[in-house]
Amino acid sequence: MDSDCLFCRIVKREVPATVVHETDTTLAFRDITPKAPVHVLVIPKEHQPDLVTLTKANPGLAADVLASAAAVAEAEDLLPEGFRLIFNNGGFAGQEVFHVHAHVLGGQPLGPMVSA
Ligand code: AMP
Ligand code: ZN
Repeated sequence: MDSDCLFCRIVKREVPATVVHETDTTLAFRDITPKAPVHVLVIPKEHQPDLVTLTKANPGLAADVLASAAAVAEAEDLLPEGFRLIFNNGGFAGQEVFHVHAHVLGGQPLGPMVSA
């Protein structure tokens, strides 16, 4: 846990969030500025700054995040029409919060994968 980390504070329930899914190792909550009708963030409860550090330190936990993202997509009824899963890793990707998170996006056509 990192006491200065926003998402660690959400795990500790020090900062409010709309939690939609929780396991022993992961938490999923709605993005505060949704970019699609469904926009949920899935995080490991353990602090890891990004996807690369997570997968090197604890690949099993990375698998837990993927399994939780799939469970969220199913619970949000995104499987019939499809959804997108995004990990922003570092500056060029626009990562703003350095506690690794998967964005689960869906509920409407999502357009091109990246803007031109
Ligand atoms: P990224 O740019 O990949 O680091 O994404 C960070 C995401 O966190 C953005 O989509 C923000 O809207 C979202 N976010 C920031 N603060 C909060 C918060 N307190 N609760 C939920 N989502 C947040
Ligand atoms: Zn953290």
